[in-house]
Amino acid sequence: VFILAIESSCDDTAAAVLCNDKVLSNVVANQLIHTQYGGVVPELASRAHQQNIVPVIDAALKKANIRKEQLSAIAFTQGPGLMGSLLVGSSFAKSMALALGIPLIAVNHMHAHILAHFIDEEGYDKPEFPFLALTISGGHTQIVKVNHFFNMEIIGETTDDAVGEAFDKSAKILGLPYPGGPLVDKYAQLGNPKAYAFTKPKVPGLDFSFSGLKTAILYFIQKEKQKNPNFIDENTNNICASIQHTIIQILMDKLKLAVKETGITQIAIGGGVSANSGIRNTLKEAEKKYGWKTFIPKFEYTTDNAAMIGIVGYQKFLSQHFENASVVSKARIQF
Ligand code: ATP
Ligand code: FE
Repeated sequence: VFILAIESSCDDTAAAVLCNDKVLSNVVANQLIHTQYGGVVPELASRAHQQNIVPVIDAALKKANIRKEQLSAIAFTQGPGLMGSLLVGSSFAKSMALALGIPLIAVNHMHAHILAHFIDEEGYDKPEFPFLALTISGGHTQIVKVNHFFNMEIIGETTDDAVGEAFDKSAKILGLPYPGGPLVDKYAQLGNPKAYAFTKPKVPGLDFSFSGLKTAILYFIQKEKQKNPNFIDENTNNICASIQHTIIQILMDKLKLAVKETGITQIAIGGGVSANSGIRNTLKEAEKKYGWKTFIPKFEYTTDNAAMIGIVGYQKFLSQHFENASVVSKARIQF
């Protein structure tokens, strides 16, 4: 089975070709245009998708060495995401499936961040059902009980900002360019995680809150800058390490509670923030410390990519879960 997968939910135009559960090509065109605005501008994102989509799909087919006539189905991201961005991917997928006379498969982007673990990769194990997934991305922070491929329950989620936003907004306060998450990670590796303490939010149960942390960081920086105008420049590494440490603690506290409540000790992480080196190391350590089995995705399957859409497409292909041409994009989707 050859699946062409298209992902266009936010600001990356991505296409991948899979042969069953193996990735033959995984192409992403990042949109650098948003950096100068300090965040994704939806109107510019959809225009850039329009420009990129044909070359990106061409590149994915070429790299996979597959002719479009060989494709078994086309999978695309139905949502959640920016409507204008989603429409580019879905319209293209529909037209191409129609032209080739092959099935069309709609994929939930958040399912894909979780099910990316089922891509066949050397050196990477696949989780067994049921497992817990911690999805940490630019728009979501969820603990999901994954009973089966398309049988998932959200057992905890953020009540305000997502983890990715917490990283990006903290970075903005430090004057770092968008998206700041990867930069905070980079500087944190050189700093002392216990240099500064930020209070953790008190949220009941398995839910999260990150907006208070952002405010705490803002006040802390303002206060320190009054004493020393060069405070940020002189302490970037320590500040980043401390912010990242606090975020990881918040995530780990809830994960431990989720394990206690469900009795499930297989933990998979997914979403852009699972690229974070501190989170990856902490989860690896948790295997020894708590006896968990943890699943950390290959780096290229963490931030938005089409390979993860393709693996969900493959599962849906096996269960003949197809859409007709009237399927619509959804900015928000429930599980
Ligand atoms: P969603 O998946 O919720 O719709 P999205 O698709 O916009 O959101 P992703 O691409 O999954 O988000 O993740 C992007 C986020 O990941 C950004 O907030 C970015 O800063 C963050 N991120 C990426 N790499 C790292 C890193 N190494 N450390 C911390 N955050 C990171
Ligand atoms: Fe995403």
